[in-house]
Amino acid sequence: MTEIAANLTDIRTRIAKAAKSAGRDPAEITLVAVGKTFGPEEMRAAIDAGQRVFGENRVQEAQGKWPALKAEFPDLELHLIGPLQSNKAKDAVELFDVIHTLDRASLAKELQKLKERGRRLPKLLVQVNTGAEDQKAGVLPEETGAFIKECRETYGLEIAGLMCIPPFDENPAPHFALLEKIAKRNGLAELSMGMSSDFESAVTFGAKYVRVGSAIFGAR
Ligand SMILES: *Cc1c(COP(=O)(O)O)cnc(C)c1O
Repeated sequence: MTEIAANLTDIRTRIAKAAKSAGRDPAEITLVAVGKTFGPEEMRAAIDAGQRVFGENRVQEAQGKWPALKAEFPDLELHLIGPLQSNKAKDAVELFDVIHTLDRASLAKELQKLKERGRRLPKLLVQVNTGAEDQKAGVLPEETGAFIKECRETYGLEIAGLMCIPPFDENPAPHFALLEKIAKRNGLAELSMGMSSDFESAVTFGAKYVRVGSAIFGAR
């Protein structure tokens, strides 16, 4: 468990170093500790080490793990970084502070419905499939502008930024650069990009949220 604390210190140091060499303020970058497949004990070790922002990629797994910890630590912030089925939207809105994976109109419509019923929506990021991979969720780069407009104008949703997961077998840098370009074009400030193997590169390209799992908690 103390290894988790040591890993967090190491990653925070590397983020700060990457930020400084890119001329950025390290305080602009939020480390999202991705806890999927690990249990409450590991989460607690990270919390004890000062970590407050966590990511999960399944609603159901998060429901089993986080409500008790959130009650105990009211300043925890929980991010959904995995695909969201429309029938889980209500649960997700209740549990998460940020959703990184808005990727289709049917989900936007579901979120609009929840908003109209008085729910406070989490911060929303649109997932972009920068590598146009068939098996990957996300809006295609060339369709992202229209989708953001639809979210804003048709569904009345506020979009805070964009998220991507580059193809695992490619240099991620061009994908990070593309996400940054699409965000700029659409007046969006917040970028969610970078994982254990490439978060420093993502920081160079302007990441606000880096999503790091195995480098903190170990191999899954
Ligand atoms: C699992 C996951 C991560 C973290 O991956 P690591 O390589 O373990 O750092 C980041 N983003 C998403 C969307 C994930 O599903």
